[in-house]
Amino acid sequence: MLQIKDLKVHFPTQIGTVQAVRGLDLTLEEGKTLSIVGESGSGKSVAVQSVMRLLPSHAKISGEILWNGKNLLGLAEKQMQSVRGREIGMIFQDPMTSLNPTMKVGHQIAESILQHERMSAKKAVEKAVELLDLVGIPDPRRRAASYPHQFSGGMRQRAVIAIAIACSPRLLIADEPTTALDVTVQAQILELLKDLQKQMGMALLLITHDLAVVGEVADEVAVMYAGKPIEYGPVEDVLHRPTHPYTQGLLRSRPIPGSREPLISIPGTPPDLLNPPQGCAFASRCPHAMRICKDYQPDVETIDNKQVACWLLHPQAKETLGWNSYSY
Ligand code: SF4
Ligand code: MG
Repeated sequence: MLQIKDLKVHFPTQIGTVQAVRGLDLTLEEGKTLSIVGESGSGKSVAVQSVMRLLPSHAKISGEILWNGKNLLGLAEKQMQSVRGREIGMIFQDPMTSLNPTMKVGHQIAESILQHERMSAKKAVEKAVELLDLVGIPDPRRRAASYPHQFSGGMRQRAVIAIAIACSPRLLIADEPTTALDVTVQAQILELLKDLQKQMGMALLLITHDLAVVGEVADEVAVMYAGKPIEYGPVEDVLHRPTHPYTQGLLRSRPIPGSREPLISIPGTPPDLLNPPQGCAFASRCPHAMRICKDYQPDVETIDNKQVACWLLHPQAKETLGWNSYSY
């Protein structure tokens, strides 16, 4: 249904070009959940903003984003407007930025319905009340007449979800939908997303930095580092049998409820994407780095059901260029 092919996104700036996404290939099938996980600055938000064509106009985008066969990157803005909201819905991290503080919540939902569907305003408001009920807002009729500031953070995010699903999109993109919320509310919003997905049969593209969230909801996961996916495949294979040293590091640095094992964080920082390294972007932080890692980018290899970009999967890499001969 959604196929991203060799996506690259560059932002020219006064001091050089930021290579935010450096070659992304992903596929999402009807009704499934794909999660993109990575630290901030790894390119995950930029990738989904490219899908929605929400990037600033100076961004340079190449590659293809195929949505049911048509390349979204080639659509005129007018055609794109009918994809946004109607075929693909999107929710962001901070619900306040998606809501208009001066407008009653019910009217905002009604307005977004009327952008895509022909019906009377009265009917749209009725539908808004039904949607508020569907996303679990109690006393929806009264709540439809409230303003966003009268809602709690969790209720606001529910209202944003109501807007995003108002036209029954085939795909819902959620960019860190729970990050701004309290832990208990986070779990409720994830539960809601899972329920809605099941009821409506939508696909979900979920951006997060939280591996626990991935384990909860996703079928497949792509781990991004410095603008590239470094490990991509079914959740069990990636989270339970991580292959890439970066994925292994992420999993070791995540708190496990009830465990007394010390957390080991990954030393160092991600590279500067104004000037990305010539070889593997993780080399300066990788405990297994070899000389070849610094000079050449690893090819993507298929192992089990996953795609992994790491020289460790190439037996000759050690032999020809010296195991551990490059030290940091
Ligand atoms: Fe580490 Fe080399 Fe693999 Fe990069 S390619 S993750 S530096 S072993
Ligand atoms: Mg982000």
